[in-house]
Amino acid sequence: MKYDLHSHSTASDGQLSPARLVERAHARGVDVLALTDHDVLDGLPEAQHAAARLGLILVPGVEISVTWEERLIHILGLGIDPDNPQLQAGLAGLRELRRHRAREIGRRLERLGIGGAYEGALALAGGEVLSRSHFARFLVAEGLGRDFKTVFRRYLGRGKPAYVSCRWAALEEAVAWIRAAGGQAVVAHPARYQMGRRLFERFLQAFTAAGGCGIEVVSSSHDHKDCRTMAAWAQRFGLYASAGSDFHGVADGWAELGRIPALPSGCRPIWQDWELGQAARAEGV
Ligand code: AMP
Ligand code: MN
Ligand code: MN
Ligand code: MN
Repeated sequence: MKYDLHSHSTASDGQLSPARLVERAHARGVDVLALTDHDVLDGLPEAQHAAARLGLILVPGVEISVTWEERLIHILGLGIDPDNPQLQAGLAGLRELRRHRAREIGRRLERLGIGGAYEGALALAGGEVLSRSHFARFLVAEGLGRDFKTVFRRYLGRGKPAYVSCRWAALEEAVAWIRAAGGQAVVAHPARYQMGRRLFERFLQAFTAAGGCGIEVVSSSHDHKDCRTMAAWAQRFGLYASAGSDFHGVADGWAELGRIPALPSGCRPIWQDWELGQAARAEGV
């Protein structure tokens, strides 16, 4: 079985609709796909429908924006119930925060002489989530940088002129919403946060104390060394290991769906105890 447990659709900042995403995953040999849009669940029904049609198993997921000790951390919720009111309310609050932030990003770009960025980003957003990715796409289209990396470095990245810091969900809150919805909380692309050993240890203590149970060991953000390091942390804290491409689309240099190296030996895969919904595989559902 091929698992890809981290991906995005147009419901957040992905480039493919949920149905196209599932079709692409299927074509690339993925058996089990998690759709994990940023702070939104709206893509899940369409993805479920396409998955049932193709016989692919769709794991309902989400990627929640968290602020922990002034740092932006992404926490994945896997196997969540999209109808859970607590999770829904928490995510609605984050999307509201995103809307405020987007207006402020627009104002800051305006001050730099770049007009219409808020409206431009809004027009590029396919759903309710306004992401810096949409601003990045707008800025690249306006010729203000050759690619995503450049415009993040110039304008949108941490500490840059259009960077607006935000207080996202608390770690404990995000994990509680995921658990309330029956899901498993997983730290997304942990090597990306570049925390030193001591800090990362403290973070994992807080995460496990909150009820988190996994970390992404294999991620397109990780090289081989990161992978081994994270496998060791997982073992040390008794955490499950997850694997995901973090696919956002075919352009802009994103990793391909399903291109996932095997978990290092000794890892306990997060899917180990999953009873994968036979209903989703039944024809015609
Ligand atoms: P947001 O969640 O709105 O703060 O937007 C962050 C998103 O921007 C990430 O989920 C990535 O999809 C995208 N992104 C692309 N390049 C970068 C970069 N260099 N730094 C941060 N985010 C990036
Ligand atoms: Mn993204
Ligand atoms: Mn992320
Ligand atoms: Mn992601």
